[in-house]
Amino acid sequence: MTVLTDRAVDPVILGDLAQVRLGQAFLSRALNEVKNEDLVRPSALPGWSRAHVVAHVGYNARALNRLVDWAATGIVTPMYSSPLERDEEIELGSTLAPRALRHLSDHAAIALDVAWRDLPQERWSETVKTARGREVPVSETVWMRTREVWLHAVDLGTGSRLADVPGPVGERILSDVLEVWSSRGEAPVRLVADDSGTVIGEPGGSVLEGRLSDLLGWATGRSVRGVRSASGDVLPAPRWI
Ligand code: ZN
Repeated sequence: MTVLTDRAVDPVILGDLAQVRLGQAFLSRALNEVKNEDLVRPSALPGWSRAHVVAHVGYNARALNRLVDWAATGIVTPMYSSPLERDEEIELGSTLAPRALRHLSDHAAIALDVAWRDLPQERWSETVKTARGREVPVSETVWMRTREVWLHAVDLGTGSRLADVPGPVGERILSDVLEVWSSRGEAPVRLVADDSGTVIGEPGGSVLEGRLSDLLGWATGRSVRGVRSASGDVLPAPRWI
């Protein structure tokens, strides 16, 4: 059955859905600002053109849609069959004609949103597995997509900035990054956002300071601009994903 409103009723899920929809609109606007002839130009991500970013974001929506389908039907459908297949898909997708790329981006996002909308409340806690093998409730797909749309909109390099990312989204991404580092045994880090007053990380960790958006740029491997440390040296952040 297709309905026009969300079947979820949990206020936390509904809040996350509102946030991801804002992010998707932000990404769509950024993509609209990229001229067709500029899609082949470099994005902010090393080695990736803007077309790579658009293909990746489109295929990411399809992959997350598979997890929502998994939760809806109980039939196991992983995000990707292998990391290699994922990379090949992005590579091939980046060669699509501009019109096809935009179509992929728009339609995959709409299909994912419809899948979320139609997922009954009682299915939102179903367990699915991410591409990295983490078992999560399917509700996590909303956050996974939120991270993607905000960060990659900025990667398109059309004037959207990390400072445009809403504070709560930026803070949650930073917490995710620190969690990944900690699970991998990286040296502990404490991030102090001097504009929002937010402190993220462990008390004993080496302190890095800067605006929330600059810390976000550093932690996600995009830039070291605006970030300070007590020793004066700011090394590139460890790999995140
Ligand atoms: Zn991504």
